[in-house]
Amino acid sequence: MPKTEHFQWYVEEFAPTEFHHHAIDELYYAGRTAFQSVAVLRTPTFGKMLVLDGDTQSSQHDEKIYHESLVHPALAAVRDRGEILILGGGEGATLREVLRYPGVRRCTMVDIDGEVVDLCKRYLPEWSDGAFEDPRARLIVGDALAFLKEDRGTYGAVISDLTEPLADSPSFPLFNGEVFRDIRARLAPGGVYVLQASTAGFHNMALHAKMARSLRAHFTHVASFFTHVPAFDNDWAFIACSDAVDVAALDGRAIDAYVDELRGENYFYDAQTHRRIFSLPLYLRRELAKPGDAFV
Ligand code: SAM
Repeated sequence: MPKTEHFQWYVEEFAPTEFHHHAIDELYYAGRTAFQSVAVLRTPTFGKMLVLDGDTQSSQHDEKIYHESLVHPALAAVRDRGEILILGGGEGATLREVLRYPGVRRCTMVDIDGEVVDLCKRYLPEWSDGAFEDPRARLIVGDALAFLKEDRGTYGAVISDLTEPLADSPSFPLFNGEVFRDIRARLAPGGVYVLQASTAGFHNMALHAKMARSLRAHFTHVASFFTHVPAFDNDWAFIACSDAVDVAALDGRAIDAYVDELRGENYFYDAQTHRRIFSLPLYLRRELAKPGDAFV
C-alpha cells in the first residue's frame, strides 16, 4: 500500500469540523451539469463512487446496503407491485432493485439530470446492471416536481431517491406539504411512499427528524429506519409512509415470501435485517418524538 502522501484525496465535508478523506485511485470524470457538480472516481476501499455537489451518493462495494434498504421493505409491504415510481435515482440501482421483482409491470424513473444518468451508464454500469434496457423500465429525464403535477398514474410504491433537500439542491422543492399531498394522491390503495431521509447519526439527525415530523402531518404510518452505510461514514436513514400499512410491523413470513420471489440473491435485506433496521435506539426515538420545525 503506498503511503498517504502518494495519494490525492476526495474530502467529503459533513460539517465544518467533520471530514472523511477517501484516497483516489482514479478520477474518471469531474465537471458540472446544469443542475449540480459531478465526480466519478475510484477509491481503494469502496471501489467506484458517484459524488454530487461534494456528497457521496453511493459506492460500488456497499451500494446494495443502501439500495436494498430503500426498495425492499416498501415493496415487501405494498399490496400491488405492478406500477412503481422512482423520483431521482440517477445511478439506476434503485431501478435495478425494483425490477428484480418479476410482478413489476412498469417502473417509471424521473431524474432531472440526464447528464448524471448518462455518466452513470458509462462509468458505473454495475449499478444499473442492464435495468435501463429492461422493457419494463420507463426513464423520464425531467423535474420530478413537474412530473408529479402533471401525472395522473397511480403507483403501488413511490420511491424517493433524491439528493438531500439542502437549500441549493434541485431536490429541495420536493420537500413541502404540497408535494407530499401530490405523492399521496399518486399512491394506489395499500401503497407506500418511501424516501432516503438523510443521516441518523447521534450527532446529526436534525434533518431526518424534520422530514419525519413533516410527513407525520400527511400519512397515518410514518416509520423511520436506518442502517450504517460505510461509504457514507454514517448511519443512513429512510422513512416509509403509508395510510394503509405500517411497514415497520411487517410480518417476517410476508418478508420471506416476498424475498423468495425476487430474481437473484439479496446481499443485505431479509426478515432479520428488517427487524434490525426498524428497531430504533432510544436517542433517535426521543429525537423523533420532539416537537420542532417542519417542511410546510
Ligand atoms: N443516494 C443518494 C444520496 O445519498 O443522496 C441519492 C441518489 S441519486 C444519484 C439522486 C438523484 O436525484 C440525482 O441523480 C439527481 O439528479 C436527482 N434529482 C435531484 N433533484 C431532482 C428533481 N427535482 N427531480 C428529479 N430528480 C432529481
